[in-house]
Amino acid sequence: MPDEKLWAGAKFWGLGFEWDPQWLLSDAQRALQARLIELCASTLRVNAVESDKNFTYPRKNFEALAELGLLGLLVPKSMGGMGEGHVCAAMVVETIARYGCPSTAMCYTMHLGATAAALFRYHHNPILTDILSRLDKDVLIGTLSYSDPETGSHFWYPISSKAERHGDGYIVNKKASWTTSGGFADWYIVQTTSPDFAGNYADLSCFIVTRDQVKSNPANWDGLGLRGNQSGPMEVIDAILPADGMVGPSGDGPKSNDECVDPFFLICSSSCWNGISLATIDITKNHTTRKTHQDVGMRVADYPTIQDYVGEAIMDTNASRALAFQMAQALDSATNNCDWSVHEDLDALPRAAFLHQLWQTKFIAAKNVAHVVDKMLHACGGTGYKPALMIERYLRDGKAGWVMGPTNEVLRQFVGKAALLGFESLDYWNQSVNERVLNNEIKKLDEAGRKALAEKLLGGNAERRVA
Ligand SMILES: Cc1cc2nc3c(=O)[nH]c(=O)nc-3n(C[C@H](O)[C@H](O)[C@H](O)COP(=O)(O)OP(=O)(O)OC[C@H]3O[C@@H](n4cnc5c(N)ncnc54)[C@H](O)[C@@H]3O)c2cc1C
Repeated sequence: MPDEKLWAGAKFWGLGFEWDPQWLLSDAQRALQARLIELCASTLRVNAVESDKNFTYPRKNFEALAELGLLGLLVPKSMGGMGEGHVCAAMVVETIARYGCPSTAMCYTMHLGATAAALFRYHHNPILTDILSRLDKDVLIGTLSYSDPETGSHFWYPISSKAERHGDGYIVNKKASWTTSGGFADWYIVQTTSPDFAGNYADLSCFIVTRDQVKSNPANWDGLGLRGNQSGPMEVIDAILPADGMVGPSGDGPKSNDECVDPFFLICSSSCWNGISLATIDITKNHTTRKTHQDVGMRVADYPTIQDYVGEAIMDTNASRALAFQMAQALDSATNNCDWSVHEDLDALPRAAFLHQLWQTKFIAAKNVAHVVDKMLHACGGTGYKPALMIERYLRDGKAGWVMGPTNEVLRQFVGKAALLGFESLDYWNQSVNERVLNNEIKKLDEAGRKALAEKLLGGNAERRVA
């Protein structure tokens, strides 16, 4: 097991393992981490520059990850996968983001989320079983297509998507405003309203569609950072799917969200933001310990101001990592190390109980990365502002953390509101009436106003009854 962190055969130029929570990893996970750092040095980091410059999708990086068996990280060994769990997933995403390529780390996060959604319901489904057992062999990249153009970051509310019954199977229509790996992934987990939808937006179902059923225009993808992500709009138009194209039973969407899609996205994306923070600290160490001011004979790293910047960034980032890995460990222990067989019981939802803790994890990591990338740029001065040092690229990549759904505005409100008013007050699908607000507004109306409102309401009902 390497005690010293190596980079292309030499001592690593950033922070050593003494600043990493190595004690959380098994021997096998540490060996995997060492191989992955090697791969980042030889392949992923070079490709990251190309992805950022030319908006190139990082398929080459996925091919390299598949060689290490990482596309099937979560897939049980009995199906040819690595059989790993949440801690290992967090470590792998953080490692890819830190030493390799943040765009690849985010595409891989979405791949793991899609893999988890498929593993949640693969048990009696030959389509899912087939894909899951070929992930590495055929480099089959998965992703999650949820966000809807009509509802913004409220990705749990797919107002412009639907599914209808068609013989034994379904016709699926999906409009997505953003999809990481859109048009490049080989398979997509999409969420729509259920085939028997009757107006209740909590009635959601998941489907698997393949690349040939997806319409996207990757040439239109543009973004401040994560430029290899290709997270453009995407559509599925009248895709005809067999019965097993539905992932889980009809109406399974909320369970799939709470148990798999959200937990894996929240843990892995937090690890991506933590990895980006660490990457900028590594670069800052390398740069400031070399750059000298000849007038005073000091290196930049000799100034206490710079030491303070780095000290605070390490402490804040390690607090964020501690939370992410603590939650990943909690999920490993609640799921018997990510044993997917427990989901033969469709009501088994061990991860869902941790959702409100996971919201906090993502909020903290995304808030921290925005601060750390700024401060590391300040510490590196004008040289940090130029692309060559790469701080500038990580800064742009890290800014995606705050705005990716669930956004940090939404998360802090979820946590505050749930803590103060109870979880039922969150009302994801806009179903419960806020009587306080309603009564307060009505109180403001004079008698004529109330009468006009009553007439309008009754008139609306009357019209609907006639229709
Ligand atoms: C790089 C990148 C990759 C992405 N990849 C994917 C993907 O793979 N799959 C996918 O489904 N989506 C993906 N998304 C979409 C993402 O999850 C959000 O849906 C998207 O960023 C929302 O953008 P918007 O302009 O619609 O924001 P809006 O929802 O319009 O938000 C605008 C502002 O309003 C705030 N706001 C929104 N709702 C509330 C509320 N209830 N309370 C308080 N404030 C609120 C927001 O926080 C924000 O500040 C990706 C986004 C990015 C940036």
